[in-house]
Amino acid sequence: MSIKINHLTHVYNPGTAFEKVALDDVTLEIQKGEFIGLIGHTGSGKSTLIQHLNGIISPTSGEILLDGENIHKDKTKLKEVRRRIGLAFQYPEYQLFEMTVYKDVAFGPTNLKLTEEEIHHNVVSALETVGISEEIYEKSPFELSGGQKRRVAIAGVLAMNPEVLILDEPTAGLDPRGRDEILQAIKDLHDKRGITVILVSHSMEDVAKLVDRIIVMHRGKAAMQGTPKEIFSHVEELEQMGLAAPQVSYVFAELKKRGYDVPTDVYTVKEA
Ligand code: ADP
Repeated sequence: MSIKINHLTHVYNPGTAFEKVALDDVTLEIQKGEFIGLIGHTGSGKSTLIQHLNGIISPTSGEILLDGENIHKDKTKLKEVRRRIGLAFQYPEYQLFEMTVYKDVAFGPTNLKLTEEEIHHNVVSALETVGISEEIYEKSPFELSGGQKRRVAIAGVLAMNPEVLILDEPTAGLDPRGRDEILQAIKDLHDKRGITVILVSHSMEDVAKLVDRIIVMHRGKAAMQGTPKEIFSHVEELEQMGLAAPQVSYVFAELKKRGYDVPTDVYTVKEA
């Protein structure tokens, strides 16, 4: 599925003292199978943008096209849009509530018109993709580590077989081990399933590790787009947009590991 965002503007609380232009004339295209990193300082509009993509919030003006069709043209189809574009919110583990890991992941698919076998297949496949093994299926989600909980929550979205998976700050609040587990699971699911992944992060390290293309949000605009190498060459602009420079040598080291030719004349690359 291709996604096209045309002149998307979103204003919160219009006409009040709290009016806020969160998105300002954003035009973007995302192709099937791409791995996109959406980065930007807090308040730059990342969450507002992704919530438009699966129709949770509606544009003030502009449109979102999925395979050429405006998602708001036929409101009865919005439920299907939400299934096709899976969104894992920040701290998705707060939404775990079933008695067992298996039941939790099965919750979404159970509400679709699927056979028992299809549900079972979706659940097992989603849990495998995020690296949760069988002996954990019958545990309570509350017995798990932070990283495991979050992977189970992501599996719940994956079990709906979305064509696009959006992850909002999936490593927030995790310890380094949990972070690595999640990032590995995300990499695997993109590589194995070939689905489009949009990773929202304020961490340049995380996106440098994984993505093919970066979109930088700044004050409600899509300020820059390009490969990690292109984006991270603009050190000064990134700094001006509040994207922490101290880790830039680390970012370049990650890019170097992935085979990119990084501009060592700008920053000295510390060998990891
Ligand atoms: P990010 O995800 O990059 O941190 P957001 O999309 O959450 O950015 O926010 C963009 C801007 O919109 C910010 O100025 C934020 O304060 C404002 N905003 C976000 N959500 C709301 C809301 N529900 N009501 C009013 N303003 C909001």
